[in-house]
Amino acid sequence: MTSTSDPTLDRTAHLTRDLIRFDTSNYGDGKSNGETEAAHYVEAELQALGLKPQLFDAAPGRTSVVARVEGANPDAPALVVHGHLDVVPAIADDWSVDPFGGEIRDGMIWGRGAVDMKNMDAMILSSLGEILGSGRQPARDLVIAFFADEEAGGVLGSHFMVDEHPEVFEGATEAISEVGGYSIDLQGQRAYLVQTGEKALIWIKLIARGRAGHGSQINSENAITRLAGAVARIGSQEWPVKLTMTTRQLLDRVAGILGQDPKQVSAEELAIATGTASRFISATLRATTNPTMLDAGYKVNVIPDLAEARMDVRVLPGDEVEVMARIRELAGPDVEVVVMHQDIGLETPFEGALVEQMIASLGRFDPGAEVLPYLLSAGTDNKALSMLGIKGYGFAPLQLPADLDFPALFHGVDERVPLDALVFGTDVLTDLLLGY
Ligand SMILES: [Zn+2]
Repeated sequence: MTSTSDPTLDRTAHLTRDLIRFDTSNYGDGKSNGETEAAHYVEAELQALGLKPQLFDAAPGRTSVVARVEGANPDAPALVVHGHLDVVPAIADDWSVDPFGGEIRDGMIWGRGAVDMKNMDAMILSSLGEILGSGRQPARDLVIAFFADEEAGGVLGSHFMVDEHPEVFEGATEAISEVGGYSIDLQGQRAYLVQTGEKALIWIKLIARGRAGHGSQINSENAITRLAGAVARIGSQEWPVKLTMTTRQLLDRVAGILGQDPKQVSAEELAIATGTASRFISATLRATTNPTMLDAGYKVNVIPDLAEARMDVRVLPGDEVEVMARIRELAGPDVEVVVMHQDIGLETPFEGALVEQMIASLGRFDPGAEVLPYLLSAGTDNKALSMLGIKGYGFAPLQLPADLDFPALFHGVDERVPLDALVFGTDVLTDLLLGY
């Protein structure tokens, strides 16, 4: 399948819409609609550009696509430009449009994946089309990768590729991908946030055991009571604020732009002053421990002997041991804490030739804008690539309207992206790939 033609839509918008129409929902725990159809679509697009994409299945239906593009300077280390093809599920009843329809309304494309991250997948394909289609070459070799399974931690996507097929990343030292490069509004000053680090993630299960029995009897070993206590204690824990190299740098620059003295204003106040971006930034000032799933019982008058909860724990890079020790303490002696999935945190200094090129490319299309580093409260496939020594950044450039609550759209209802932001992003990305 190639893009359906609609003369009013530009190339990136076409690609984004087509990709949204593949329902690649990833439900976690190995349950997924799969990425194979979307992968074949991407494969055809890459082949049409004269590239030789390879497909890799970590499991049936779980397909990742990788292609190499030869750069003008074969001696420069390769750059990985990657996206993921899966999306989180969407409950259609909650949406004002079909989440897999790719509808265009109010100058935006709506649908699951519009910002996370079929937009960037499309921008990558479109930029390559711009460059190769006009007979040019990127400055250095590119490893173009579209991974499966990012939304479940990348076990069947980026981690599988890094573990089983590291040769495809041969010679690569840096990577760019999602959740960075978008603009925020700081009291009238536009600023772009480049993601230079990620918190570590630890997905845990709490297991409370107790004595089963009749719901009418006294039971001091009720598994649900034990679990609920632990969930409430951990979920409402106020973790201390701790600034990393990146958050310190970000907040100092934010203070400068807002004309505030960072010694007079708390880190939390400065984070809130970033407006909608504070959803991301406030969560990078401390650990977070959010209960997300509960499972217990089968009948109102029966006390079960087991109750379980899941939590999404995100900690600053390096704080894993300390936070997990405190979680076990808060859980108490009757509740077992099991780590289901864990992945590392990352932090890279905001400097070097690639960062300078990002600033230059953004500046070319938005003169006068500020470019700031930030730490991501969530994680990306850059975690897996870091295992190969590849330094990853979030750089999916988008110039956004000041009043759009962009961070809320990630995994949110009515996910959507402005059409002109896709044009901007493709231009900036093309400039970066030609210049770096
Ligand atoms: Zn994503």
